[in-house]
Amino acid sequence: MGEVNRKRLKELAKREYNNVCADCEYPNPDWASVTIGVFLCYECALIHRGLGSHISIAKSFELDNWDQASLLTMERNGNELAKQHYEKVLREQWIRAKYERKEFMNKSDAVYNRGYMEGFLMKKGKKDKKLEKRKFVLSQVDQTLKYYVKNNSKTPKAVINISDLNAIFCDPCKMKTVKNPNALHLTYLKDGYTRSIYVYSEDGKEIVEWYNAIRAAKFHYLQIAYPTCSPDELLPHLTRDFVKEGWLWKTGPKVGDSYKKRWFILDYRKLMYLEDPLDPYPKGEIYLGEKSKQFNISSGIPPPLKQLHFGFILKTPDRTWLFSAETEEERKSWIHSISSVLETPESPQDSSVYLRQNLRNSFSYKHNKSRDSSSSNNRNSGSSLTGGTIRKGKNFFSFS
Ligand code: ZN
Repeated sequence: MGEVNRKRLKELAKREYNNVCADCEYPNPDWASVTIGVFLCYECALIHRGLGSHISIAKSFELDNWDQASLLTMERNGNELAKQHYEKVLREQWIRAKYERKEFMNKSDAVYNRGYMEGFLMKKGKKDKKLEKRKFVLSQVDQTLKYYVKNNSKTPKAVINISDLNAIFCDPCKMKTVKNPNALHLTYLKDGYTRSIYVYSEDGKEIVEWYNAIRAAKFHYLQIAYPTCSPDELLPHLTRDFVKEGWLWKTGPKVGDSYKKRWFILDYRKLMYLEDPLDPYPKGEIYLGEKSKQFNISSGIPPPLKQLHFGFILKTPDRTWLFSAETEEERKSWIHSISSVLETPESPQDSSVYLRQNLRNSFSYKHNKSRDSSSSNNRNSGSSLTGGTIRKGKNFFSFS
């Protein structure tokens, strides 16, 4: 019975609308939500799982059991109906936010839209992982985010240019050590390296306000930098979520090298690996160019190379990287994510990043301890991924 249902399910998945993921339109979904009745790709199915079973129960075509009731839900619903049902409201909310509340236009009464935000956030210490209370000041006029060790400090501990700053809601599985779900992961470039800082608030609303305030400040900055661009063109460039994060094993280039567990972050064309997910700097950053330029990814590690779990190989012009995932699904998912980056054509901005990071593709690097000790006037000038090139770049909008 189960096998008959599975076969029928796969037929349903070939129909128009069902043949792409309901949430991201990735082709040939092989997962489904049996509570909502939509067909999903693996990546989106994982997010559905995270929502909890009271909202969505995601099942794999292959790995899960398909009973009559689940199949019936899929038959009765499907991606087209779900879109009409769920996105009707989304569209209305979008239109209300845009035209009625004018959230994406000018200054409104929303806290995050006043162009200035000041407050205390808990920040994870760089070395000891302890949470410390720090004063943060976001200024649209100065185009900076600063933080101070003490409330009455005159000199900020760090000055981060808005142009360099990215904010992402933390992956909850990284937060186990901190046990606070209201966390933002901020990244910026410091001397050409990706610096991460983690901030937390007891109050979920407050962290969302900081997130929105950073986006609003970035929007303001981009409007000045690109006066001819429409808001619709600027909106996708306010903040950028990571494509993927998670544990992988990685081994060095020498035959005797052993595998080490590392936390990997795929941030657009940058694949970073860290010893601890909450480290301030990655141990290494690998630039991912396009396929035609000797970048390639493939499943499996051929002998005599050292094997572990579910291996895969990333080839860059400088080096062959051997990675391993704990499960077949994880391996598939990483290969899927990295391939889509390699298949995206590079923009001139992307290539300039490559030139600057080229050396680091071959070596992991040790961090200079003194790098963070400088305190004032540290405006990261000239060391930004986008700050320098954005102003000149006509092709900025191919950088996403
Ligand atoms: Zn999807």
